[in-house]
Amino acid sequence: MADRMRLGVCGWPVAHSRSPAMHEAALAQVGLDGWTYQKLPIPPELFEEVVRALPAAGFRGVNVTIPHKEAALALADEASEAAREIGAANTLTFEDGRILAENTDAPGFLDALPAGRDLRGARALVLGAGGSARAVVWALRQAGAAEVLVWNRTPERAEALAAALGARAVAASGPLEAPEVVVNCTSVGLAGELAPFKALPLRADDLGAGSLVVDLVYRDGGTRLLEAARTRGADVVDGLEILVAQGAASFERWTGKVAPRTVMREAAGNSFST
Ligand code: NAP
Repeated sequence: MADRMRLGVCGWPVAHSRSPAMHEAALAQVGLDGWTYQKLPIPPELFEEVVRALPAAGFRGVNVTIPHKEAALALADEASEAAREIGAANTLTFEDGRILAENTDAPGFLDALPAGRDLRGARALVLGAGGSARAVVWALRQAGAAEVLVWNRTPERAEALAAALGARAVAASGPLEAPEVVVNCTSVGLAGELAPFKALPLRADDLGAGSLVVDLVYRDGGTRLLEAARTRGADVVDGLEILVAQGAASFERWTGKVAPRTVMREAAGNSFST
């Protein structure tokens, strides 16, 4: 592997991404001192042109975030099965003049689940129908979940996602009966001002012992959804763990080195305040 390489995260906006802090810390930890990881704010109309210019500028690969994940898949010369089936890529690698696309959000989600938690035969409810919901539904199906229900504020999007990925859309005029696995893939909880049990069709008291509640949202101090679930005895997974797991998979793809997850978690958590 070359001594000097560039990495980055493409988004629009991308100012608040924690990936640079996380990857810079990881690069330093494994001794790749000549490697750098930077924010790449790219408007949609320039995405393809800029990405195609990156290898010549010394880039080994990039992460891709909102709103470019579909465009990233579309421009790739080759894509993993996960990226193709999900319809989005969050990791591009530049290799031998080719652009290779992968989706590490889906394996990252599975990797962040509590060790030994077997999803085979489980029923799951996914809240949201955006990019992260697509990756999570695909991952749950891959892990053997027997049924995946999808609820979304805009029901048509839930129907389209469910039809594409082998799930079942559900509508709700009040709280839904929560199955054993619940995953929040909406942005509810991000700002902290939206009460999760008002914005989402859930009853806090349904999220008790035996439940697994995953929140893709991460924020300083944790989300109110996870706090309520944890208090009631559920197993919970914080979005920060998923961020670290998907970042670790990208890091290993680009560098060929084992990702130092503890250091990455610490750096991503610390960047809440920066
Ligand atoms: P997205 O594609 O923009 O989708 C946003 C979703 O949130 C849509 O389903 C949207 O519903 C829903 N939503 C927004 N405001 C809502 C509200 N007030 N009430 C109910 N639903 C609402 O975003 P995404 O990429 O899927 O990301 C979703 C969240 O996950 C974001 O907070 C993001 O930061 C987080 N995330 C975390 C990780 C991680 O590594 N931990 C990875 C990816 C994403 P409509 O369709 O009705 O608009």
